[in-house]
Amino acid sequence: MRLDKYLKKLGYGTKEIVHQYIKDNNVLVNNTITHDFHYQVNESDLIEVININKYKDYIYLILNKPSDYVSSKVDRNCPTIYSLLDSKYQNLNIVGRLDKDVTGLILLTNDNHLYKRLINPKYHIEKKYLVTFKGMINLEALDFSNGITLENNYQTMPFKIDLINEEECIISLIEGKYHEVKNIFKALNLHLISLKRLSLGNISLEGLKEKEYRLLNKEEISHLLTIVNK
Ligand code: URA
Repeated sequence: MRLDKYLKKLGYGTKEIVHQYIKDNNVLVNNTITHDFHYQVNESDLIEVININKYKDYIYLILNKPSDYVSSKVDRNCPTIYSLLDSKYQNLNIVGRLDKDVTGLILLTNDNHLYKRLINPKYHIEKKYLVTFKGMINLEALDFSNGITLENNYQTMPFKIDLINEEECIISLIEGKYHEVKNIFKALNLHLISLKRLSLGNISLEGLKEKEYRLLNKEEISHLLTIVNK
């Protein structure tokens, strides 16, 4: 593949941006600066881009969503999660919405490549939710390693439930079907009282109060990029 196309594919930007990097001595092929956009990259070539942070224009943030806020840009009746964000973050996309009554971690980004991959069911990213519930069932005795069948006959992927006490548990799952946790609890004949997303991959809500948000750090961004092979 041609060098400029190769760098574009790696997410360094448009053809014009990549050409500028090549002109500006930022691109090395096998330890030597190159100005040749047409260079044909071989599998054995070591390609390096120096002094450029390819994610500098991207924003990745997590918000601790309170209840009664909707996960959309506009809503006639309810406040939206965007009303909690600074004006400079209004163009970010929500990676995995939460229902209005559900609280916790929401990831937002303007990195559309990452966004598309994170919402693609092919990438099984673990999400953990804290659930409070009422009902009598011995969750510890149940095996969810083959998932369970929901009311609509959908067979879920495997998931795990760790009990905290008789009314609280943490459910860990790797898919994000519509109302999935609520439907799992329905299928288990348990009355779900509240639901809060605690984490996405190894990105955790810890330390963020309701309505607060923060930018992800470098390690968290590279974790996300790694889990979707970006
Ligand atoms: N599962 C649900 O049922 N609702 C959510 O908002 C998220 C996961």
